[in-house]
Amino acid sequence: MPELPEVERAARALSRAALGKTIASVRAIHPALKRKLSPAMARRARSKRIARIERRGKHQLLHLDSGDTIVVHFRMNGDWEIGTTGDPLDKFARGVIELTDGTRVSLVDRRALSSITVDREGVSSLPRLGREASDPTLDADYLIDALKRKKIAIKPALMDQAVLAGLGNIYAAEALWEAELDPRSSSAKMSKTKLENLVTAIRLVLSPRRRRPGRYTESRGRDRFAVYDREGKVCRRCGGTIQRIVQAGRSTYFCPDCQIG
Ligand SMILES: [Zn+2]
Repeated sequence: MPELPEVERAARALSRAALGKTIASVRAIHPALKRKLSPAMARRARSKRIARIERRGKHQLLHLDSGDTIVVHFRMNGDWEIGTTGDPLDKFARGVIELTDGTRVSLVDRRALSSITVDREGVSSLPRLGREASDPTLDADYLIDALKRKKIAIKPALMDQAVLAGLGNIYAAEALWEAELDPRSSSAKMSKTKLENLVTAIRLVLSPRRRRPGRYTESRGRDRFAVYDREGKVCRRCGGTIQRIVQAGRSTYFCPDCQIG
């Protein structure tokens, strides 16, 4: 499930393959993607140069020299496959961006939930996004302000992209474990000290050194995560047992013995 680090890595790979190049065509292949990318919108991208590529939350934005922006979201399973127009197309390729130098960037997604859309100049289809979870200026004061009217628990609040952009189910759970905070705690009542610890923990779980190298699509090693997907396993900090609960329709993994803040 791509979150900030994985989308950042994908955007960098895309930049290496496509930045500064000119688009030959953008095509939707899967019906679900065709519904989001009309032929007319796809045509607007043709012959335009990719002037800038950025990640915003879990979105990848390809700014074209025409002023239009191609917006990509991987949802649950998307990823780029980068090759050339002569390569056989991946059977899970849902859309492709072909460049005039023969580079082909395929959006591969087993479940076909990803999207490619084109925003006209001056128009943004992005939802309201909070500060980037990776932003060095992120601090406890920002979180106090962003969370003060939230009447939900801290875990789903952290996953709200309008609060923090880029965190999802995995890294929200991991950060709460690092900060020794109970994911069920009221987000509006978190003390400044706890939120300072949480900011430190968010930085830690997003830092490349802590994560294993390799693509997120590879099978996850047993100890890649402290709590995520480890129900019934031993907490590596206190020896307690990791539990799974459901919050806002999503699984939350945590250690009830040491996440007591
Ligand atoms: Zn524990």
